[in-house]
Amino acid sequence: MRGGCQLPIYLGIYEALSEGKLIVVTGPSGVGKGTLLKKLLERYADRFHFSISATTRSPRTGEEDGREYFFWSRAEFEQQRDAGGFLEWAEYAGNLYGTPIAPIHRAIAMGQIVLLEIELEGARQVATSFPNAQRIFIAPPSMQVLESRLRDRSTDSDEQIRKRLHHAALEVAAANEFDLTIVNDDLEIALQQLEKAMFHD
Ligand code: ADP
Ligand code: 5GP
Repeated sequence: MRGGCQLPIYLGIYEALSEGKLIVVTGPSGVGKGTLLKKLLERYADRFHFSISATTRSPRTGEEDGREYFFWSRAEFEQQRDAGGFLEWAEYAGNLYGTPIAPIHRAIAMGQIVLLEIELEGARQVATSFPNAQRIFIAPPSMQVLESRLRDRSTDSDEQIRKRLHHAALEVAAANEFDLTIVNDDLEIALQQLEKAMFHD
């Protein structure tokens, strides 16, 4: 029954996403992905579906469940993962992160462009599942600037910042796996480059 119901939906999602309606944005923590995508969504809210991920990390000050993330316990996350509830998932800096698949079905059905903001391992999974997805890497002007942004954001402990900088080096080294790299130095210029890539490339 379950498989019978889901099959047409899965065919729909694969067909729609293979037509290039899935955009993956990846880049080190603190590079400015959230800042860029928030501005983009403010400008073009009706054209995009921004996927809200699930995570086992604790909410930061100001974050709300169901807005920035779905904040789940590890047990809840693993249950969803084992039930096939994620398009992709990965462990990052000691926490699990994943893209719930059900809202993506609904967005595709509405003809929206689906936007995922995920780390490298998840982006690699999506590259395998959906080779036609557009993959964009956001790079920092330098590792020093990245560290300053992480510290100035004041959301993470020294230990978390250390883990994030460790990941950042691995992620920057993998930038050539992506279709396009945008350096987020001047925010407005990076935003223009992102808009051009999403709407014209
Ligand atoms: P990410 O989502 O990639 O982890 P954020 O969007 O939270 O990163 O940005 C990290 C910090 O850097 C924030 O404090 C943000 O205001 C700042 N920031 C983002 N883009 C720029 C930029 N182009 N120039 C200077 N600061 C920036
Ligand atoms: P943060 O804890 O700073 O919000 O996110 C840490 C990292 O996890 C970032 O690189 C972010 O892009 C990534 N991330 C957020 N959601 C997901 C997701 O659903 N899947 C994967 N693979 N990574 C995610």
